[in-house]
Amino acid sequence: MGKDHGAVWVLAEQIDCHLQSVSLQLIGRARKLADQLGSSVEAILLGDNIDRQAGQLIAAGADRVYLGHAPELEFYQPELYTEIVVNLAAEHQPEIMLIGSTDMGRELAPLVAARLKTGLTAHCIDLVLDKNMILEQRIPAYGGLLSIVCPEKRPQMATVAKGVFPTPEPDEARTGETITIDVPDRLPGRIKTLEIIREEPQGVPLETASTIVAGGAGAGDRDGWHDVAELAATLKAALGSTRPAVDEGWTELETMIGQSGKMVSPEVYIGVGLSGEQQHMVGIVGARIMIAINSDEKSPIFDQVDYGIVDDCREFLPVLIKKIKEYQEKQVTC
Ligand SMILES: Cc1cc2nc3c(=O)[nH]c(=O)nc-3n(C[C@H](O)[C@H](O)[C@H](O)COP(=O)(O)OP(=O)(O)OC[C@H]3O[C@@H](n4cnc5c(N)ncnc54)[C@H](O)[C@@H]3O)c2cc1C
Repeated sequence: MGKDHGAVWVLAEQIDCHLQSVSLQLIGRARKLADQLGSSVEAILLGDNIDRQAGQLIAAGADRVYLGHAPELEFYQPELYTEIVVNLAAEHQPEIMLIGSTDMGRELAPLVAARLKTGLTAHCIDLVLDKNMILEQRIPAYGGLLSIVCPEKRPQMATVAKGVFPTPEPDEARTGETITIDVPDRLPGRIKTLEIIREEPQGVPLETASTIVAGGAGAGDRDGWHDVAELAATLKAALGSTRPAVDEGWTELETMIGQSGKMVSPEVYIGVGLSGEQQHMVGIVGARIMIAINSDEKSPIFDQVDYGIVDDCREFLPVLIKKIKEYQEKQVTC
């Protein structure tokens, strides 16, 4: 493998022994980067009973998997995971380290970057190499794409959300090496995850929805947000949001779409009271038909959608919901 460049690493993630799709997507992109660097793709996977998942990483493009399995690794343990990753990175000196922008990745990546005294770019939407083989970590900013580089420190670290890169087709014939690593038999530090209690998902999941109604700051208040949510429920659509709607406490973080939220690709996207800021729009590049409702006819959202409705959503939505319900009732009685 490459003499000049270290390996491209992916910190893979499993939950209940299921490999997260973003980990496979990162292996796919790591493969491309490693091929250009003349280097190798290596993954770290921590958990309990996860040999099969190591095989999945190899089938997706990894050359080597560092596998740490122990009962105390069943759940993500911030301090123990950090310790293991930092020690391995210090030993093997990877060139690049990629992590999913998941709950785990969002916490683990800065912990590891701080310990390794290197840089970290969060929520990248593209990763390419420049002519000097430095990683351009691209994020949307200032109305365009900004490339952040970390030319001196190693590894070059980036987090990426699920859905930014495609999931590679598994090649079951691929072979790779699995190295079992030593795991400290005692959890370091003060934080221990003892149990994970999952919230029941509410409504239609954003990631698989064919219709999404997303609301923004223009909803105005909780009553206005109630109309946005009711439109989504009436259309059996998933409810999405922009950051201000989350910050106002009208909805949960899980509904946020965009650079630091979810990437979605519905058949129909309806944006209500939102301006079309790039950090939001980057999450819906996969949408087929886009509709916006905004009271400002000059709003930039109208340059980005297929159909635009200029109106106050506080007045328009109740009328629209009533009409849709009447139509739905007619369909049932016919
Ligand atoms: C690093 C970083 C990451 C970010 N990540 C994300 C992300 O993942 N997702 C995200 O969404 N944002 C993200 N943001 C925030 C983003 O930049 C914008 O601030 C946000 O998307 C704007 O939300 P908005 O369109 O709801 O609000 P605004 O930009 O304030 O737009 C509100 C719109 O509502 C319209 N309006 C007002 N009243 C009404 C009414 N009565 N009826 C109809 N329309 C009305 C207005 O004309 C306006 O166009 C990020 C920002 C940064 C810096």
